[in-house]
Amino acid sequence: MDNKQPIIVVGAGIAGLTAAFRLQQQGFAVRVLEASNDVGGRMATLSMGDFRVDLAVAIFPDSYQCLLKLIDDAGLADQIAPTSDLAGVVRDGRVRHTRGSSKLDAITTDLLSWGSKVLMIRAMLDASRAGDRLSWENLSLAAEFDGESAADYCRRKLNDELYEYVVGPVCRVFCMAPPEQVSAVNLFFVLRHFVGRSFFNSATGVDFLPRGLARQLDVSLESTVKTVRETASGVEVVWSKAGEAERTDTVAGCVIALPAPQMAEVYPQLDPLRRELANGVTYATAVGVHLGLTKRPDEPASVMQIPRSEHPDLVGMVIEHNKAPGRAPAGKGLISTVWLDSWNKRQWGREDKHIVDDAIAGVHSLFPALVANVECAHVQRWRFGPDIPHPGVHRAMTRFQAVADPKSRIKLAGDYMSSASTNASATSAEKAARELGALLGA
Ligand SMILES: Cc1cc2nc3c(=O)[nH]c(=O)nc-3n(C[C@H](O)[C@H](O)[C@H](O)COP(=O)(O)OP(=O)(O)OC[C@H]3O[C@@H](n4cnc5c(N)ncnc54)[C@H](O)[C@@H]3O)c2cc1C
Repeated sequence: MDNKQPIIVVGAGIAGLTAAFRLQQQGFAVRVLEASNDVGGRMATLSMGDFRVDLAVAIFPDSYQCLLKLIDDAGLADQIAPTSDLAGVVRDGRVRHTRGSSKLDAITTDLLSWGSKVLMIRAMLDASRAGDRLSWENLSLAAEFDGESAADYCRRKLNDELYEYVVGPVCRVFCMAPPEQVSAVNLFFVLRHFVGRSFFNSATGVDFLPRGLARQLDVSLESTVKTVRETASGVEVVWSKAGEAERTDTVAGCVIALPAPQMAEVYPQLDPLRRELANGVTYATAVGVHLGLTKRPDEPASVMQIPRSEHPDLVGMVIEHNKAPGRAPAGKGLISTVWLDSWNKRQWGREDKHIVDDAIAGVHSLFPALVANVECAHVQRWRFGPDIPHPGVHRAMTRFQAVADPKSRIKLAGDYMSSASTNASATSAEKAARELGALLGA
């Protein structure tokens, strides 16, 4: 079908590029406007000398069905391959390894006592009972489980050992926050979609996907959207390209694919309820410190989780050279460190060299051999880290979904509809593209 109605997509992160790709497939003439000078948003990879470092998005479990189909449909399937699923959790200064996809490892691991392993089955059953309500498209479907925090759930149904070595590390790594601040829904979500999974990735970096999609689309970089308004004749988009005068385009429809507060800023007609909810989405501040090493350390895990009792601020590490091939030159190592929101906020305005010193000292206190040979470092600041899904947020999002006008030619996409991830962003974008296409008669 080729109906060539013009559509603008705001933002060239994975949400915007997915929406544009799917709308173009339906026959629309789509233009993506991106404020920065590159595509991908938080799905970014940096060349640091001969190292290829993923700056935010790092891992892809095989539960990312929307992303896998998108990769296939975009002709990019030859760029991914199965990758290591070996994870480590530190306990008493020693790393306990398990393979994500191995049920045997879950039983034999010395991370937990037998009593805790039995209780863990209870948590997995609760996650499985929530079933498809733990939805990538709309996590407000699981609102009935949203009345307590992960910490309260753990106190009620699990035990202290699971709090320290499973529930705490999960919340710290996925949300950069302690389990007291995270809804039980998100704990179930991780148990269902990330535990017991295999993983995939690309040898060149996670940016293979945004770049591969952008090559097939009309993307205008350094193009900042100021406002998006629905009028009687269509949708009016006011935007400007760097160094050029402001311009107004009238198009048939628009998808706004931005983090929630940025979406509210460009969309003045957004109703007061959704505006309040969008501005209330709490994003963690993220400061990642990435370290290139002259020597590959003797640690086989690709992802490491660090409980609060082992380090108060350092929540995890991605051992990039184990995660996927091609990330570090032969014999060299590459590590990305992940920190708690409160540490990130303290570091935000400091000079990079001080942040790197603190990060190396933090890793050194646990794994001296890991950071003995630092060759280069990069500090990456993200204003919009993963969101911190406080208990009650999914109930609030029920109202967000309910008041959306199905007849509106402005559709929204982004990871705030579900548990923040590339797969949630892409899923929300496919829904936006589907609904807009149907409305405009694709
Ligand atoms: C440290 C960190 C680690 C993460 N790890 C993972 C992981 O391992 N796996 C995973 O699946 N997810 C991970 N995530 C989450 C994932 O990064 C996001 O959920 C996803 O990338 C969001 O994509 P998006 O397109 O919705 O938003 P974004 O990537 O933020 O894209 C929005 C785009 O809009 C542009 N923009 C903003 N304002 C305007 C404007 N006015 N006009 C035009 N353009 C504009 C921005 O420049 C940006 O390019 C991580 C996030 C962080 C921060």
